[in-house]
Amino acid sequence: MNILRNQSLKSHNTFGIDVKADFFYEVNSLLELIEISSSTIFKSEDLFIISGGSNILLTKNFKGLVIKNNIKGIEIFSQDENYVDLKVGAGENWHDLVMFSVEKNWGGIENLSLIPGNAGTAPMQNIGAYGVELKDTFISLEAFEIATGKIKCFTNADCCFGYRESIFKNSHKGKYIITSIIIRLSKKPTVNIDYGDIKNELNKLTIKSPSIKDVSNAIIKIRKSKLPDPNEIGNSGSFFKNPIISKSKLETIQKKYPDIVKYPLKNDDFKIAAGWLIEKAGWKGKRFNNYGVHNKQALVLVNYGNAKGSEINKLSELIIKDIYKKFDILLEKEVNVL
Ligand SMILES: Cc1cc2nc3c(=O)[nH]c(=O)nc-3n(C[C@H](O)[C@H](O)[C@H](O)COP(=O)(O)OP(=O)(O)OC[C@H]3O[C@@H](n4cnc5c(N)ncnc54)[C@H](O)[C@@H]3O)c2cc1C
Repeated sequence: MNILRNQSLKSHNTFGIDVKADFFYEVNSLLELIEISSSTIFKSEDLFIISGGSNILLTKNFKGLVIKNNIKGIEIFSQDENYVDLKVGAGENWHDLVMFSVEKNWGGIENLSLIPGNAGTAPMQNIGAYGVELKDTFISLEAFEIATGKIKCFTNADCCFGYRESIFKNSHKGKYIITSIIIRLSKKPTVNIDYGDIKNELNKLTIKSPSIKDVSNAIIKIRKSKLPDPNEIGNSGSFFKNPIISKSKLETIQKKYPDIVKYPLKNDDFKIAAGWLIEKAGWKGKRFNNYGVHNKQALVLVNYGNAKGSEINKLSELIIKDIYKKFDILLEKEVNVL
């Protein structure tokens, strides 16, 4: 068992933060996970699971064992003439899985194209984009229970999915290592192009009856134009969630800010664009030494060089305080801060 010591995590997080882990071990199979779980280090040290590292901000060295989940594999679990259920290893890259499905013309996750990270992490925050969330295709997952070493199955209902939420970010936080997921894709896909700029992008390309591949290509193009590439500037995508507020609160805020960007929800509440709040408060493009707020997308905090995670975290706290003072809205971090 090759457990690395004093390992830099810089290449394992998309913010590019250079902190170290006392111990680091990459698991490539369930068997390797079971093997390491019987080691003294696994039993005695604090544990942290890392996959694509695209939704974490590391603020200090990790005194314990980091396990990198690299369990691969895509297999057809079941199918009929209408659908196919894919069982996917947690360590498969999410976008590669989307591309695999699009090539087969199996629909359901094409709107989630180009989201970084791995398949096994997708349920953690019920990844979502362009009107689609993981929960719309998710059937179940298997996870290794750290305390008992047992493999447990969680259905869609068990995961208690919400907006960027699941049971694994709440009551089950740090208790399980997800090893595989099952998603159901349609063999007779219908496209979902009502959200954001998808229709505009398809119009520009004069595509009238788009296939799921056309939708995926359009979304990739839009995302590339709006979001910084972590290979070029360290970041973790949206740092904050879009806050949800009541109608009466919205009406109060609208008296001062009539142009506030909002999306009505089913229950009379409204989702507010956190990026709009941050931009309106004057933070967009602000740079402090090696870190700052991205100049095209205010929701994204960036590491321009060798910034510390603690500096970026402090900046996020300043933004939260300022937004609260200006709009009486409390922003919540989407990124997991460690
Ligand atoms: C440029 C950019 C754009 C993004 N766009 C979107 C978007 O549109 N929509 C969206 O929802 N997200 C988006 N994200 C956030 C991120 O891509 C997703 O949250 C992704 O699912 C994180 O996966 P990961 O494998 O990188 O997770 P990591 O960052 O490695 O881990 C995230 C959390 O999950 C835990 N974890 C990881 N793997 C496991 C496992 N196997 N078992 C148990 N716990 C685990 C970790 O301990 C950590 O707490 C974006 C990020 C970036 C950088």
